[in-house]
Amino acid sequence: MDSHTDITLDELHTGLRTVRMRRWFLWLLILAYVPLMMIALGANDAKRMVVIAFVVWVLLLIIAVAMMALARCPRCGHCFHMSGYLFRPVRRCFECDLHITADKQLRKNDLKHRG
Ligand SMILES: [Zn+2]
Repeated sequence: MDSHTDITLDELHTGLRTVRMRRWFLWLLILAYVPLMMIALGANDAKRMVVIAFVVWVLLLIIAVAMMALARCPRCGHCFHMSGYLFRPVRRCFECDLHITADKQLRKNDLKHRG
């Protein structure tokens, strides 16, 4: 195990925000599937539009999964959702167990101590 490098709250926040945004992009894309197909089915050339919509959706899905898989943990520098070839999209870092909202929790504690 490597030692966790000390990082500031801002660095932690920026890094985790990137991880969160990539997660959101993937979930929104999955949710967009049905509305996208409804729109495609409503088009004049429905068969062709469904095929085009599906191909575009799959390509975006591959990009979204790759971006999510390659998102780095701001604390340990490893891929947040990856261990070797294993992809696990949960809310904790695979390597150092950092929670996806650790920056928000730290900020809340920080305000409590000050106030
Ligand atoms: Zn980590």
